[in-house]
Amino acid sequence: MNNLKNKKDQEYICRAKEVIPGTMYGHMSIQRQLPTGYPQFFERAENCRLWDVDGNEYIDFMSAYGPMILGYQHPVVEEAARRQSSKLETASGPAPVMVELAEQLVEQITHAKWAMFVKNGTDATTTCITIARAATHRKGILLAENAYHGSMPWCTPNQEGVVEGDRAHLLYYQYNHVESLLEAAERCKQDLAGIVVSAFKHDARVDQEMPTLEFAKAARQLCDANEAALILDDVRAGFRLSLDASWTLLGIQPDITAWGKALANGLSLSAVTGNENFRQAAASIFVTGSFWYQASPMAAALATLTLLEEAKAPEYLEKIGNQWRLGLSEQSQYHGIPIRQTGPVQMPMVLFEDDPDFEKGFQFCLNALEEGVYLHPWHNWFLSLAHTSETIEKALEATNHAFEKLAQSQK
Ligand code: PMP
Repeated sequence: MNNLKNKKDQEYICRAKEVIPGTMYGHMSIQRQLPTGYPQFFERAENCRLWDVDGNEYIDFMSAYGPMILGYQHPVVEEAARRQSSKLETASGPAPVMVELAEQLVEQITHAKWAMFVKNGTDATTTCITIARAATHRKGILLAENAYHGSMPWCTPNQEGVVEGDRAHLLYYQYNHVESLLEAAERCKQDLAGIVVSAFKHDARVDQEMPTLEFAKAARQLCDANEAALILDDVRAGFRLSLDASWTLLGIQPDITAWGKALANGLSLSAVTGNENFRQAAASIFVTGSFWYQASPMAAALATLTLLEEAKAPEYLEKIGNQWRLGLSEQSQYHGIPIRQTGPVQMPMVLFEDDPDFEKGFQFCLNALEEGVYLHPWHNWFLSLAHTSETIEKALEATNHAFEKLAQSQK
């Protein structure tokens, strides 16, 4: 436990226990996801700071698990959303901003010749595989083992309530393992509709891995040879590594891409983009939702994309990400507590050596929390444009204490 105030949080948790199944569900469940002592409920968020319901303040390195990329309550984004919603929000038809945003994505993203808008990343990945199947009239979809693509029955990491049929025609390969990809395609025979790839390997609880060029090329070639869809799941990484599709950095273009999270700086919007080969199939499927055409998140997305471009977001995030990684590395060495920092610096994963049950990670993160820094012991963190060099310095003071305390407790 820690010394943070938590009276109100505990009260809300007690009330939630009565009226919300399991007190909280999904990735926001403190009880199931994080060490005891983390607050469950927050009162306010601004810039890169969070205040919990008891008034404790944190520098937030989770950025809403990705959606926050410019800072919470960014005035330009909020104003764009407000201006739009004062005219039209959810109505009997969409607003022109939908066309403007689709045009922006088509201009900005190399493979994109069209765009569709949905609400969550899961809607986007599900729409991608539906388009791939509609285009090819085949069923087989290859997925990387343990990769997260959303919470629908076909992709949820939990098997409760899922039946075999939900996962029919899915075949698994290992990320970055060309042999296993070829084998999975072989098992699929003539039925390959698409291959889903994450921007990089960002599975929870393990070291992150960038895609190798060999792997990316093999995936592209397999799809070309079979006229199947190469589907990039850029929901988590999108706009942090590149303002184009993340695999553009490798010189590989996907056919269809799922976007979400950072697209509208926290307003509810995700998207699917695709190339000419998949336009007709995308037009042929029926996908929709009462709130998919909501206009203000689209206005927010247009503002977000403009600001990300002006700020050269990926480069900026790389700069502060390097500062953060170097600082943590120096502290780990100084305190004699080895860590592994993996994946792109814009989305750091920090795991402790010899820590199979995450005990060190839990302790370190709780220590940091007490010092006012919100981290996660086994999920990647997300940097934002609101994290300045000064913020990183301040956070490093906190992590220095966190390492120090951990070192003492290890003696
Ligand atoms: N794909 C990836 C790579 C993700 O990280 C996520 C969300 N963590 C999703 C899909 C699903 O997105 P959502 O939670 O918005 O449905």
